[in-house]
Amino acid sequence: MQILLTNDDGIHAPGIHAVYHALQPLGEVTMVAPERPRSAAGHAITLHKPLRLTQTRFDNGTVGWASSGTPTDCVTLGYDLVLKGKCDLVVSGINAGPNLGWDLTYSGTVAGAMEGAVLGLPALAISVASEHGSGTIDFTAAAAFAAQIVRKLLDHPLPANHFLNVNVPNLPAEQIQGVRITKQGRREYVERIIERADPSGRPYYWQAGRIKDTPEDDTDVHAILEGYISVTPIHLDMTAYPTLNQLTEWNLTK
Ligand code: MN
Repeated sequence: MQILLTNDDGIHAPGIHAVYHALQPLGEVTMVAPERPRSAAGHAITLHKPLRLTQTRFDNGTVGWASSGTPTDCVTLGYDLVLKGKCDLVVSGINAGPNLGWDLTYSGTVAGAMEGAVLGLPALAISVASEHGSGTIDFTAAAAFAAQIVRKLLDHPLPANHFLNVNVPNLPAEQIQGVRITKQGRREYVERIIERADPSGRPYYWQAGRIKDTPEDDTDVHAILEGYISVTPIHLDMTAYPTLNQLTEWNLTK
């Protein structure tokens, strides 16, 4: 089996190496990841400048491909160029930090898996839901869980255009409460823009913000708050089906 592995924290991030090693018993793993951190790249692709792809050898013997592009570019380059279309599954992560609720479309990690689904492949995004600036992140449980999900995806394929978004609490395995199958919840940011002044007194801005979660039952946000692994099935089709009829009743004219 051929697994294409990417992330958005960059090829040097510990999370991608943790899952790279956990997936070794399952098949051949080809790591194609951004040469630098690209978190919050979303599903962006690079169109107006050349892309570079450089083979990179790590001290422990691991070989990967570092790309100047986004996580989505990495999946395209990995699939078309490195693997020549011979790929069974795409894994994106393990991200350092959660990808919950409305963060999904900001996330480069989720976009890596989304691109796998676009290619018609089974795919999963996996993140450790560590608090911002929480120091050490324990990737052990998430790496083992990724391997379990990969086996399940191969034995029980999802319908076309689906992929999985997985978040794992930043806890040792024995402290994780269990696994919940969830729906996408609500995660908003408040106080989003922070203003500072540069040495000449001109304002500049940091985009940051404080998280405001709405922990509704059965959501990814709620599962993580309660110490559970969250597994959310995601569909590429973002159409709001219940609203189709309402729009039809607008009787729009040309
Ligand atoms: Mn990231």
